[in-house]
Amino acid sequence: MIKYKRILLKLSGEALSSEEHTIDPEILSNVIKSIKSALVENIEVAIVVGGGNIFRGSALANSGMDRITGDHMGMLATVINALAISDACKRNNIESVVMSGLAIGGGVCESANHNKAKKALSKGKVVIFSAGTGSPCFTTDTGAALRGIEINADMLFKATKVDGIYSEDPLINSDAVRYEAISYKEAIERNLKIMDMTAFTLCQDHGLKICVFSMLNNTNTLLEIIKGKPLGTIVS
Ligand code: UDP
Repeated sequence: MIKYKRILLKLSGEALSSEEHTIDPEILSNVIKSIKSALVENIEVAIVVGGGNIFRGSALANSGMDRITGDHMGMLATVINALAISDACKRNNIESVVMSGLAIGGGVCESANHNKAKKALSKGKVVIFSAGTGSPCFTTDTGAALRGIEINADMLFKATKVDGIYSEDPLINSDAVRYEAISYKEAIERNLKIMDMTAFTLCQDHGLKICVFSMLNNTNTLLEIIKGKPLGTIVS
């Protein structure tokens, strides 16, 4: 049974990259396979993509750059990733539209607009949101929470390298257990760093559920969770 009709998938920039490539074609192809598996079941898919594989404002500021300029560069990096995802969609006969929180002209992409996004989603197009919130000093996780709320997503899927939220770091302690579901309150009390506080609080205040999962080893995981299989951790 399909549990979530409209999803927001948050992909970090690093989720697209490898040691050899800033945007790895093989990883991108697997991302598209995951998305396609959901689309064929008539799930509406929106994406918010990060830019950490190219630039992060905080890292640029640490090396001496103005933080706000660095954040602008970070946001533009997310636009590059969004264009790559959109191009990969096109090559796989998936219609998509790239929207940006920053105004970008020249036919590169559209401005983020929740009404247009919802319309495109209802037509089966993938909406790829870039430039996060469009303002410096935020993250694309906060952008994901914001866009997820704007489009009334049923779930914010946060793809990570680990397949859920664990009681302890599973790489350090092999006895660590994965939670299937936890509440927002528990996540805060246990100091589980799922997203930055701004993003997390937005989700909590608006009741946007978060699913932390991994699509690294299996392109079916996303669809399996949508169908109710307890593979990641759901925060609600
Ligand atoms: N950024 C920003 N405002 C936003 C979202 C992102 O200024 O609303 C900038 C910020 O510099 C950030 C960079 O864009 O470091 C890339 O985003 P993020 O670090 O969230 O990417 P991810 O870690 O998901 O790849």
